[in-house]
Amino acid sequence: MTTQQDFRAMPTPAERAVADVPGPREHLTSPRTQAVLKIQQALVAGARELMAAEGAVELFQPLIGPVTDPGARGAKQVDVDYYGHQYKLMASAILYKQTSLVAFDKVFFIAPNVRLEPLETSSTHRHLAEFHQIDVEFACASRDDAIALAERVVRQAVRKALATQEDALRLIGRDTAKLSAFVEQPFEVLTHAEVLDRLGHPHDPGTEIGWQAEEFISGRAEAPFFIVDYPKGSRGFYDKEDPERPSTLMSFDLIAPESCGEICSGGERESDYVKIVTRMRETGENPAKYGWYLDVVREGIPGSAGFGIGLERLTRWVAGLDSVWQASAYPKVPGVVSP
Ligand code: AMP
Ligand code: MG
Repeated sequence: MTTQQDFRAMPTPAERAVADVPGPREHLTSPRTQAVLKIQQALVAGARELMAAEGAVELFQPLIGPVTDPGARGAKQVDVDYYGHQYKLMASAILYKQTSLVAFDKVFFIAPNVRLEPLETSSTHRHLAEFHQIDVEFACASRDDAIALAERVVRQAVRKALATQEDALRLIGRDTAKLSAFVEQPFEVLTHAEVLDRLGHPHDPGTEIGWQAEEFISGRAEAPFFIVDYPKGSRGFYDKEDPERPSTLMSFDLIAPESCGEICSGGERESDYVKIVTRMRETGENPAKYGWYLDVVREGIPGSAGFGIGLERLTRWVAGLDSVWQASAYPKVPGVVSP
């Protein structure tokens, strides 16, 4: 990875064209779309194979709930009228992943999430208002266990696509030798501070890394790599603070190469009731809203670690697509009226 500071020269959202998404018939009958959706299916099959080998149980997450992940920075949640109660569409299933560990030690969901991302994200090529996650949580796992597991999932998913979707990958012109080389090497691990130093980026304790800067480093990466140790304030209350380094979270992202940027976020989770309530207050969340979750936590949930891989973003990278909407049968680009 190089160390230039010229990520600031990247086009701003306003300078980029909003995605021009074709109508459903044109999109669905396109041989390219069909090839991409077959590759996506192979990625899901590969991920499920790995999860089965790990002994994980696939559960089906709720679509609606009284609360959802508050950590989706900048995105609006969608209200649902549930018999007079204000429910939310699932922005991510983190709360359900943690509480499901009272039933099984290893769980995963492959399910949709809805986030009304800010309008300016319509030109980032990486945001959808509706997307899917391969959402994994293992009890008694550490952050490093989750990193190693995420690497295994991605590797197995990509290998499955390479092994079973040769024709589809050829049709869309993907360089399979390059893709195969990416996943045959170990993924490097960098700290958030190291990445900011390399970028010459100011250290803002409250933020992750801007998507433009991330696209820049991704464009110069030679393989997928992890970024660890995001600062407190950049993520939800459920990511555990490092007891030895307060204000650093035991969190990580996986960055894909070829300018695709983040494809996965995860971390070790907080499981202590008092600490969770404190972190909720610190992050501006009212604990009273989280009644059902806190009731389960109070009686005890195991410590855990896990992650969510964005399926459309993974597909975008594996298929070598310009934009994430091309990895969805019915894409919802933020702000664009669509089926
Ligand atoms: P997060 O917990 O916000 O990091 O989301 C987990 C993963 O879901 C990310 O690493 C992305 O791969 C994917 N993701 C998050 N937001 C979006 C979005 N608006 N559009 C597409 N994928 C997304
Ligand atoms: Mg993230």
